[in-house]
Amino acid sequence: MPDNRSDRFAGKSVLVTGASQGIGEGIALAFAEQGARVALNGRKEDKLRAVQEKLPRVSGGDHPIAAGDMSKEDDVDRIMKESLEAFGGLDVLVCNAGIMIPSPSEDVTLEDFNKVLAVNLTSVMLCSRAALKYWRAHDKTGTIIVNSSVHQQIPKPQYLGYSASKGAVGNVVRTLALEYARFGIRVNAVAPGAIVTPMNDAWVHDPKQHEAVSRHIPMRRPGESREIADVVTFLASEDASYITGQTIFVDGGLTLYADFEQNWSS
Ligand code: NAD
Repeated sequence: MPDNRSDRFAGKSVLVTGASQGIGEGIALAFAEQGARVALNGRKEDKLRAVQEKLPRVSGGDHPIAAGDMSKEDDVDRIMKESLEAFGGLDVLVCNAGIMIPSPSEDVTLEDFNKVLAVNLTSVMLCSRAALKYWRAHDKTGTIIVNSSVHQQIPKPQYLGYSASKGAVGNVVRTLALEYARFGIRVNAVAPGAIVTPMNDAWVHDPKQHEAVSRHIPMRRPGESREIADVVTFLASEDASYITGQTIFVDGGLTLYADFEQNWSS
């Protein structure tokens, strides 16, 4: 790591959606530790205040709280406006908020399907649109990082909306990257494998289930939020100044066709 890692985002402003827990909290912490002011979005203000307390103080002012539902156009427009005013600009947008709702696909309700798409996909469009409009109107540059998933590539049975949303996010990133590259605006994604967060409470705290999950991962362990955050901060940094339109899989080898670790086909 470069020596200046501790302050490489000094004077920079970052908005992280879904920062009240899990990977989003880890991303917010990593940016703040490296000097950035971070606007913390999530739906619940009290949870965001608790995260704000944990972040190191940085020069320039407090880390703003930006509570709201990022699947709703009015909330996104308000939060983007408030964040831009609080910071006097925006350098990095991290679209991290995400949900999943399981169901056999023959029973999936339109309401649940649309809800997952709204949080995981539409919110990426809404937030990116607002940031891009600001950067273009003020002749500024910035960078967008979207939190996708290995399920951008690997199908996820019984999670049709999740699978569809993450597949689509990969192409949203590539399309925006191509459209805005000439303006110096970079757009990339990080695609986590199985990470220890509240989203995975079903197996994280059960030793048997934890072991079962780990067995499917070539590196034999789930990842930590920090391991995703480190790639997000890399993508946002000058170290990644020539990278755009890419999805970096951070998955302990999950997308390497783990079932082919032993030869069974010939
Ligand atoms: P999590 O459930 O722990 O946290 C999700 C965050 O998103 C929370 O802060 C929640 O409040 C916020 N959120 C949900 N709906 C929102 C909305 N409408 N508006 C604003 N905020 C909203 O989940 P996580 O594991 O930290 O996942 C974060 C991202 O990482 C998601 O996009 C998820 O798909 C992706 N991901 C996670 C894993 C994993 O194993 N945990 C793997 C691959 C991808």
